[in-house]
Formats: sequence, structure tokens, C-alpha cells
Amino acid sequence: MTDAANPLLADWTTPFGLPPFAAIEDAHFAPALDAALEEGRAAIAAIADNPEPPTFANTIEALELADRTLDRVAGVFFNLAGSDSNPAREALQRDYAPKFSAYASEIVNNEALFARIATLWEARDSLGLTPEQMRVLHLTHRSFVRSGAALQGEARDRLTEVKSRLAVLGTSFTQNLLADEREWFMELSEGDLEGLPDFVIDTARAAGEEKGAKGPVVTLSRSLIVPFLQFSPRRDLRETAWRAWTARGANGGATDNRQIAAEVLKLRDERAKLLGYADFAAYKLETEMAGGADRVRDLLMAVWEPAKASAEADARVLEEMMREDGVNGPLEPWDWRYYAERRRKAEHDLDEAELKPFFQLEAMIDAAFDCATRLFGLEFRPLEVDLYHPDARAWEVTREGRHMAVFIGDYFARGSKRSGAWCSAMRSQKKLGGETRPIVVNVCNFAKGNPALLSYDDARTLFHEFGHALHQMLSDVTYGSISGTSVARDFVELPSQLYEHWLEVPEVLKTHARHARTGEAIPQPLLDRLLAAQTYDMGFQTVEYVASALVDLDFHDGAAPDDPMAAQEATPARLGMPRAIGMRHATPHFAHVFAGDGYSSGYYSYMWSEVMDADAFAAFEEAGDPFDRDLAAKLERHILSAGGSEEADALYTAFRGRMPGVEALLKGRGLDRAA
Ligand SMILES: [Zn+2]
Repeated sequence: MTDAANPLLADWTTPFGLPPFAAIEDAHFAPALDAALEEGRAAIAAIADNPEPPTFANTIEALELADRTLDRVAGVFFNLAGSDSNPAREALQRDYAPKFSAYASEIVNNEALFARIATLWEARDSLGLTPEQMRVLHLTHRSFVRSGAALQGEARDRLTEVKSRLAVLGTSFTQNLLADEREWFMELSEGDLEGLPDFVIDTARAAGEEKGAKGPVVTLSRSLIVPFLQFSPRRDLRETAWRAWTARGANGGATDNRQIAAEVLKLRDERAKLLGYADFAAYKLETEMAGGADRVRDLLMAVWEPAKASAEADARVLEEMMREDGVNGPLEPWDWRYYAERRRKAEHDLDEAELKPFFQLEAMIDAAFDCATRLFGLEFRPLEVDLYHPDARAWEVTREGRHMAVFIGDYFARGSKRSGAWCSAMRSQKKLGGETRPIVVNVCNFAKGNPALLSYDDARTLFHEFGHALHQMLSDVTYGSISGTSVARDFVELPSQLYEHWLEVPEVLKTHARHARTGEAIPQPLLDRLLAAQTYDMGFQTVEYVASALVDLDFHDGAAPDDPMAAQEATPARLGMPRAIGMRHATPHFAHVFAGDGYSSGYYSYMWSEVMDADAFAAFEEAGDPFDRDLAAKLERHILSAGGSEEADALYTAFRGRMPGVEALLKGRGLDRAA
């Protein structure tokens, strides 16, 4: 096939330059990806071998544009691989994953290329760069240095060895964990099912069939064991199940992860030191808004004490319930979920069936759009265009008649879609090489229906992903590498989690949460109960999470511990963690931290983002109007349009006038009351 015949490589003359989905076939991807990689390699070689001395334009800007075709083709491919896969697309993913990683490492290991970048970095103050250009130069140089581009000889070889050993250990860690999770199950007699709701019984029976057992079983799958711990009145069975669940990865033998965890921590420490950092936390947090371990610890400790006080108060109530059941002795970790569930039922009984008719998918899409109109003046017009699946829908997003973006909503679950919900940009905003406006996709897994009805959590998810979409659609930067959501990991969830707050605004719910059949607005008492239930059992959840986040931080801040299991015990002991709460993730199954590098020394970031979103929304509450246009304009100027053009704390401070404090988070989690 010639390039001209491949629709992925031809010019896209479709409306808004959308990919020509109707013409694209799976057979087009491999040749298009190959051609795009080849074009990228040629562009990189041309930059590296350019006989002219390096300039910002012939090096950094040229690098920004080197992957033009690859970005375009990969943007389509990865979207389809996630949201509408098939065996051919899965095979392509397996084939191309090593090709992409080889391509990326060729670039960072290109010495001539790095020499040009390093020359520019040295001369940065005399280049007359704009602040955004300076930022892009800084980030480009930093990412090469962090990959080891500045190392020579033995140090460089050792870094390569360490990285590949870490990759092997990460894979083993995951596989051992899966093996332990597969291995264990507990058979239940018919009598053992007493007190379990139907959905748990159904899941247990299905699991029993899968395991070839005679009857229902409990497995270590989160979707089965957590409800079992919540609902089973059998304390002995709960204890057995809880002990097995928390022993994953620490059962001795070939699947034991304890040695792996110790080796991973040592190698990470070595990697950081090879690159010139004091320890792994310093290396890892350099690129984050938090910047260093002390700030992370300060944040976690500010939340810890009120959370602990709240959990201790809850523990007393639960222990009293246990006494009334005639159980003596202290509340144990296998008791908490059970008594907390019974208390929830008594105090916050929310009937999903009563709620659901008020949350129609169409109305919630309208609500998300409506908030964006009131805040940012955006308007949404349905588009009749060819997309990749009949369930996907597109809108043109405009402001005062000006085209801003194409938004694609792909909301329904199907077998070809991976689970979860996400936002991706099929095309990102940038101005270099001509103004490019984004094509942004929100993908969810909601159940179909007529009309389609959402749970309240689903509606929050819709708002969450739409918040990410706004970060892409309002982006207004020159360079694609810092566009939209290309920001620090502990900053990227701010726009999405912040947007969830608008769903909770009573006037939004009163307008859009209307009964599917009667059109009646959600009644105030139901709304009150719904909002009150959101903060139930937050002491437990916060303690469980913060303890794991602190253990993760302690592992990486300073020298690696010789015995991670002992270190894992020391942290909660020092903090006085309530004994009836286990850690959310014990070391031998803490996949966030050991299965790869993603959340190592970064597990805190969920809470960091929540601190910011609560604090940012509090600005609107202080203004007395959730739709305050001046504040929305500031939010857009400093955060939603700014991408990664400045350090995240500078962006936040420009919006809020100060760094975030934890007060709004404590209030939002209902933890201010117990302290
Ligand atoms: Zn998110």
C-alpha cells in the first residue's frame, strides 16, 4: 500500500480535521505507525546531525514537531485500543509497545542530540527566550538528564542495568500477587451465606463455579472480599478471609514478594544516587508540585491527627454495637467493615433504586455542559460526523462563535472497552506549526438503558472526566509538550476533582436531577441524605490511606531500609494507628509502589489533589457564588489554559493568592467535627 492510499497518512479533509474513521481499517495501522516512526527517526537524526550550531528553533522546536505524524496516528490508535478493541488491535498493541519504548530510548540516548540540548541549557540566559520557551527548554533538558543522558561510562552502564532489573522485579511482583490472589479461596456452606445480600451470594456462587468448587466461595478479588467483610455476620469467617487478604505476597515460597520489595528499594536508591540525587524521594518528587518529602509529610500529618480522632470516635461506636451482639474483646480489623456497614444502614440508608431515576445520563451531560457555559462561556453543538463506534457522540465546542474544540463522549460499557473511565486527547492543542485545536474524548462504562440512568458515583465520574476535558479544551499554549493535561502527576487531578464539586451545587442538582418519569426535581430530604452519606466512615478511609502513603514516603525518603517489613511496622506504631484499622496496602501487595514506578513515593498524590480541589472550590464558596465569573476567569487563565507552562505551585498561587491549606479538605471529609 502506498502512503497516499493509507487514510491515516493522507491529509484529513474531514470537518475539524477529525480522523476519517469511516475509511480507517485495522490493516492501515501497522504501515502508518511504521511510516510515522521512520519519519520521527529521520527528523531526530536531522536535528542531531545539523551542522548549524544549536538554536532553540532548530533543536527544541524541531523536537516538538518531530513526531507530528506519530502523534496523529498514535492518537487514533490508542484511543481505539482502549475504547473499542478487538484481537487485531490487541495484537498491534503487543507488537508496538516494545517498538515505542525502543524509539523513546533511542532519543534520550542520542548523544549528539543531548549535546545540543545541553549547550542550549548552558546558554539559556542569553537566548532571549520567552518564559514558555524557557520552561520547555528546562523540561526537555531535565527529562534527558533524569533518563541518564548526562552520565558516562560505567555509571551509564550501571544505570541501564538497574533500570532493566527494576523492570523485571516489577513484573515478578505483579505476577506473584496475581498468583496469590488466584490461589486462595474459602468454601462456604449454604448456612454460611446467611446475612449476605443477593449480589454477594451471586458473586460467591459464580466464583465457586470458576474455581471448580462444590458451592459458593470467597476469593481475594476486591469486588468479593470487601462486600463479604462488610456483610458477613460470621466473625470467624471474616477473620479467616481478612488474614488471607492481608497476607497476599507474604505467604513464603516462590510467590513471596518481601525480598523483591527490599531489592526494589535498594535499586531505586542506587538509581537516584547515580543520577546525583540524595535519595529516591528527592529524585521522584523533583518533577511534582510537592517538590520534596517534607512538604508531603507535612500535608499527610496535617490530615492524620483529625482523621485518627474521627476514626477513634467511630471505633467506640462500633465497639458498642459489637458488645450488644455479645462479642467481647477489642474491635479487630475484620470487624470494622461489618459494623460500619450496619451503622451506615441505620444512619444513612440510601436506596439506589429511589435515587437512580433522578440521574439520567442525558441530563447529567447537560448539567456538565451547562456549568461550563456559566463558568467559561462555552457552548456545545451536536455534530453529525463519522466516529469510531455508533455509541460515541461528538459536539463542537465554541465560545463567542470561535471554534475551541471537538468533544467526543463515549459513555456506554461494551465488551470491546477496557474498564474504568478516562479522558484522552486524540489531538492536543498547540500553536507551534499553526494553531491546532484539540479533539478530546471522555470514555466511561455506564450501563445502557431507556433512558440511561446513572448512580450518583457515575454522575461524579462524568463530571470528573469532563473536568479533565476542560483542561484540554481550554488549553492555550504554544508548545504541545506542555499542553492541556501535560502537568505534574500531583497536579493533573485538580481540574477533574474540582469539577466534581459543581455536581454537588444544590441549584445544579435541582435543575438537572429530575425524575425520569415525572420530571420532578430531586426532593430536598433525599438530596440532604445523599450529600450527608458522602462523608460517612471517612475517619477509617483516611487513616487507612494516609498510613500507606506515609509508609511509601518513609521507604523512599533517606536510605533504603534493609527490612521493609520492619519499616512498615515502625511507621504506624510511631503514629499510634488505631489497631482495628489495617493498612490499605501492606508492602508485599502494595502494587502502586512496587509493580512499577508510577506511584512510588507518589501514593500521597491522591490526597494532595484532594487538598487542592477542596481549597480551590472553597474560593468559589468564599465568593458567595459557585458561578462567579471573575474567579472562573482566573481559574481558566492560571490553570485550565496554562498546561505545564509554569511550575504547578506558581499556577496555583496565581489563581488562589496562596498555596492550598488542608482546612477545606477536612471539612469536605467531615473530619473537622471530630478534632
Ligand atoms: Zn482523573
